Amino acid sequence: MAVDEKKYLEILKVLAINKITLVAVSKTKSIADIKLLYDLGQRNFGENYVQEMVDKQRSLPGDIRWHFIGHLQSNKVKYIAPFVYLIHSVDSLKLLQEINKEGLKNKKKVKCLLQVHIASEDTKYGMDENELQLILNDNKLNSLTSIEICGLMGMASFTNESTLITREFKYIKSLKDKYSSLKELSIGMSADYRYAIEYGSTIVRVGSLLFGDR
Ligand SMILES: *Cc1c(COP(=O)(O)O)cnc(C)c1O
Repeated sequence: MAVDEKKYLEILKVLAINKITLVAVSKTKSIADIKLLYDLGQRNFGENYVQEMVDKQRSLPGDIRWHFIGHLQSNKVKYIAPFVYLIHSVDSLKLLQEINKEGLKNKKKVKCLLQVHIASEDTKYGMDENELQLILNDNKLNSLTSIEICGLMGMASFTNESTLITREFKYIKSLKDKYSSLKELSIGMSADYRYAIEYGSTIVRVGSLLFGDR
């Protein structure tokens, strides 16, 4: 079973009630599998690796909204800037400046989320609260006219402990609520999207529940 249609429809229903966008995380999955979900109506897809996303974008319909959710190196921004819909994983001012530069070249405003480190493990990328505030209050932001910072993204700890996960989601929600310009909150994956819904998620990123394990 390449795509779990029943699960897909079930998740969509729950998300629709809460007006949450589903990003189907298709990393490592084939063009054929993505096409199956596309044919069911799915349009938002998420990828972690630049080359993989570029290759897939070339082979799939043009109305797909491509979300970049992996760690992004400044020197690779140019490959995705022409078509990317939303970059979830921005973690520095330097990266924002590079995205702005490529946005200018492509005559578009590139939508971005700032990734915040909320997990207890230090293997996950993202900024802490201090770095986030420094960036959002930096005067240089005003000159970056080809980016739009729409919200925050976070990954909770990899654990079955629901109290830890909900504490982390609550925390990132509180950070987002401090800034009226931040509308989007990208939290929730296969294991924890139900908690994310309760804590103000506007975008969930779900992979293995839809496509099976990687
Ligand atoms: C892989 C990945 C996901 C999806 O994970 P699943 O557990 O398969 O739902 C979501 N967000 C990011 C940043 C990822 O790398």
